[in-house]
Formats: sequence, structure tokens, C-alpha cells
Amino acid sequence: RSPDAEEANQQPIKKHIGDVGRVVEHYNARPDVGVKQRLESPIIGLKNFNNWVKSVLITRFGHPALAASPVHSGRDRSGSGKVLDMGCGKGGDITKWAKARIKELLAVDIAAISVDQARSRWQTMRGPTRFDAAFAALDCYSDPLTKAFPPERLARPVDVVSMQFCMHYAFETVQKARCMLDNVSRWLRPGGIFLGTIPNSDQLLERLDALPPDVEELSFGNSVYKIRFEDRHSRPLFGHRYYFYLEDAVENVPEYIVQWDNFVQMAAEFGLFPVYKKEFHEVYAEHEDHEEFGPLMVRMKVVDANGESAMDEDQWEAANIYIAFAFEKR
Ligand code: SAM
Repeated sequence: RSPDAEEANQQPIKKHIGDVGRVVEHYNARPDVGVKQRLESPIIGLKNFNNWVKSVLITRFGHPALAASPVHSGRDRSGSGKVLDMGCGKGGDITKWAKARIKELLAVDIAAISVDQARSRWQTMRGPTRFDAAFAALDCYSDPLTKAFPPERLARPVDVVSMQFCMHYAFETVQKARCMLDNVSRWLRPGGIFLGTIPNSDQLLERLDALPPDVEELSFGNSVYKIRFEDRHSRPLFGHRYYFYLEDAVENVPEYIVQWDNFVQMAAEFGLFPVYKKEFHEVYAEHEDHEEFGPLMVRMKVVDANGESAMDEDQWEAANIYIAFAFEKR
């Protein structure tokens, strides 16, 4: 056992209730399937595409911030940067951080079992890209990071904060969104980058508005995903709940609309300013012919060697629910 494992086990197991409890229960219960079983997922094309988008985002915006890390020691260009992965899940991005040649990772998630799986994944890493890391179970939208990590771990600022497919859970209340942004901004150095992926509220609300007036259930989707709202007309900035189902991934979990302008306005109060915002299909169009990200798409099995997509139309539609973003701390 490494000292980091000791560090991360300091937290007592906490019982979560309400919507948060449902989210935690859901993610903790999802098995950490091996590579082989993952290949058999009916939505493997979509999962690969989501991973490719994250890789593009991390490479384009994360790598420069990591390379500019102030602790960068001149000639030695390896292993200088520090990353905070909030809502890290089972550690699906650990290999992306290894490729970025980071020096240190702090990873937190509210689902304690997922955090254990992420830590185990890191512990099996070998070779020159291995980095120092600390993992902890934390409700990042209710508690400060100081509850998860000792002061020594937080002493050196982070270069990149990453929140992949998880920030929208914070928009249940204004307090939670502010706590989340405080955790993002407080440890991020000036010039550092905050990047993430969230559902596209404009698109979800447009689809809600387009539902015929006489439908019994306020839902839309296809064979791969379903989104169900509870109310047709109200548009609160926080707590605007819907239920999300994604085949082989998410079982009707409560999520919240993130209105982009509201998010940007709040982020500015924490010194965070947007530098990138694109729908997933735009990320695709922007990079499909790119010299690095085009071939990466083949290697990550988003398309085959003939350029044939691994996603059917329903998966493609589900992929386009999301947007990718990057903010800079000033
Ligand atoms: N970022 C990972 C990835 O891209 O594979 C996991 C994404 S998963 C769709 C969403 C994650 O958000 C889950 O692991 C869940 O436990 C986490 N999450 C939800 N609410 C949270 C909270 N309040 N604090 C920390 N993590 C939270």
C-alpha cells in the first residue's frame, strides 16, 4: 500500500440521501468491466467517441497548461504538471494523464467504490509515465477539497482541473454550484485551465419545447438514450431537473440543466473565463482531418480504417447532447 492510499482512506463512509444518494448509488453500483467486456458494449462506438473528445480537449487545452507549469525544470520536459480530476469516476482518464506526462494527480469523486477502482487502476501503472497521485471520496459540490487532502497535497497549485461528464450534478442548487466553482478555482494557478464536458442545455430545452402539447410524458430520445423532464414551462437557473437514461451506462439518474450564460457569469466571479465551447459534433468536424486527432480517431476505434463510423445514427444523436468547454483562470 502506498502512502497515498492511506491518505485517501481518511474519510469516513458517508451516507448520501435524496437525488445525490441516487447518483452515488448508481455510479457505485456500475461494474468496472474489463477491456474485453467493454468492447462488447452495445454503445462502444459512442463510448469511444466520448473518450476521443476528452482526449482532444485534454491535448489541446490541458497539455499547453501542463507544459507551462511553473515547476517545469528547464531541460527535463517530462512530468511537471499537476492535475485535479473532479468527478473522476473509475479513473477512465488516467491513461490520458499519463500521456500528458503529468507529475501529480489529485482525483476525487463522491462514489467511494469508483474512487477505489480508480486508485487500483493507478496502482497497476508501470513505466516512465507513472505519476504521483492521491485519491479521495468527496462530495465536491458540498465540501471543500481540504476535507479530502492534507495541506501538503494542496500546497502546490494545479495546472489543470478536469470535470468530465459530471459538472451538471452541481447545478442542483446555487450553493452547490458555488462550492464546485470554489473547489475548481481555489487551487488552480493563474493561467491554468479548467476543462470539462456537460450536456447542452440549449439543445435539451429546445427538444422539450418541441414536444407536442398533448404528450403524456415529457420525454424524448431514441433506442440509446432517453431524457424526461417533469415540467414543461419552468426554467429555473438551478435545480432544473430531468432524468437521464443511457443504454449500458446511466439508469434514469436525476441531472440538472446548466444554462451556459449563467455558468459563465458565475465562473467569472471565481476568475474563470471561457476560451472554448463546442458541441460534440463540432469537435468532430473541427478535428476529423487533423494530423494528430484524425489518426487518433482510428486508433480509438471511433471510425475504422476506411473512415466508417463505429456509431449508428442513434448513438450519434446521443453523442451530440454534449458540449466540451475550456476556461482559463485569470
Ligand atoms: N469523469 C468520469 C469519466 O469521464 O469517465 C466519470 C463520469 S460519470 C458520468 C459522473 C461522475 O460524477 C460519477 O462518477 C459521479 O459519482 C460523479 N459525481 C456526481 N456528483 C458528484 C459530487 N457531488 N461530487 C463528486 N463527484 C460527483
